[in-house]
Amino acid sequence: MKDIDILIIGAGISGSVLAERYANIGKKVLIIEKRNHIAGNCYDYIDENGILVSKYGAHLFHTNEESVWKYVNQFSEWYPWEHKVVARVDTKTVPIPVNITTVNELFDAKITNEEEMKEWLEKHRSPIATPSNGEEAVLSRVGPHLYEKMFKHYTKKQWDKYPSELDASVLERIPVRTNYDDRYFSDVYQALPKGGYTQLFENILNHPNIEVLLETDYFDVKDDFTNYGKLFYTGPVDRFFAFKHSLLEKLEYRSINFVSETIDAEFYQENSVVNYPGMEVDFTRIIEYKHFGNQKSEKTTIVKEFTVDEGEPYYPVPNPRNQEIYTKYKAEADQLVDVYFVGRLANYKYFNMDQAFKNAFDLFDALEKTTKSTYKTAV
Ligand code: UDP
Repeated sequence: MKDIDILIIGAGISGSVLAERYANIGKKVLIIEKRNHIAGNCYDYIDENGILVSKYGAHLFHTNEESVWKYVNQFSEWYPWEHKVVARVDTKTVPIPVNITTVNELFDAKITNEEEMKEWLEKHRSPIATPSNGEEAVLSRVGPHLYEKMFKHYTKKQWDKYPSELDASVLERIPVRTNYDDRYFSDVYQALPKGGYTQLFENILNHPNIEVLLETDYFDVKDDFTNYGKLFYTGPVDRFFAFKHSLLEKLEYRSINFVSETIDAEFYQENSVVNYPGMEVDFTRIIEYKHFGNQKSEKTTIVKEFTVDEGEPYYPVPNPRNQEIYTKYKAEADQLVDVYFVGRLANYKYFNMDQAFKNAFDLFDALEKTTKSTYKTAV
């Protein structure tokens, strides 16, 4: 007899979804969470200015996956939010992703339609059939001028690496538009949870079969919790195998230093997110949370993001070297029985939120196929 059916390490997206799925088929679930709150990096709260802010950076939900959209709608109401980002480049403010307006503003071009924009891109880009890194990916799409102004230094500040040292997929997250569309994402569903993300997670975890143990580092208590049916680990994969560090190299992660300020004004900037892709400042972007959901307050809160090496791991660093190291950890992980690695840090993948949701409930489906008829999301 097992004390706990399902032991989950981490109360972020992956851990919470798996907890909810298993609780719903009658399993007893225990989540062990190091931090003093649920919701992982999606955690948000009302700050001293009465503004809903995210502790670990803005989280913009967007998906094309019908199943994910249906799943998250069970736990919160959502309001439509099409995210937009502008960048301060030289003395100008331009839309990112690059669109017709971006090129007109920066290069004093007079493009008026898609055809002219395609011609401009054809003239300036350096086509590469299969870009092998981030630099080639950007050069192939928009050419060297935009690469220099909008991508090269932002990437260096974000990753402490130039785009040439990262996988093409990192830079390919940002599309290039041949029209005036200034939305950051193109997905069918783009929305924010009405009561915030923390409330969404409270609702996901609100089940009598789920217990959450906060402020507990699993590695401090792991010997007390060995009698489980299945273990789902959502932390950094290399930390799980820390005892083997002498044999396996450490994976790289990026962290962010969030520096928050209260500004005694109605608004500080014209948009929720302003990127600073140049070298004149050390931070990558400034987030002004009051814009999300058009919140009201006499003052406003802004948060500057400085990316750093040390600190809580937020981003895996996708490049061939880390992938090679990860493959070795994965081989170790695959040998374990009833232990599963899931999510951004445990799979060492730069998942968006919707991918994390999908990955977690797909894993549940794969493991528990026989109980599929009880899924709330089965359609
Ligand atoms: N990027 C850039 N300039 C920008 C915005 C993004 O060079 O103004 C590059 C940078 O390498 C960044 C990547 O594109 O890490 C992905 O950007 P995204 O906004 O998706 O990053 P996230 O929101 O996950 O930090």
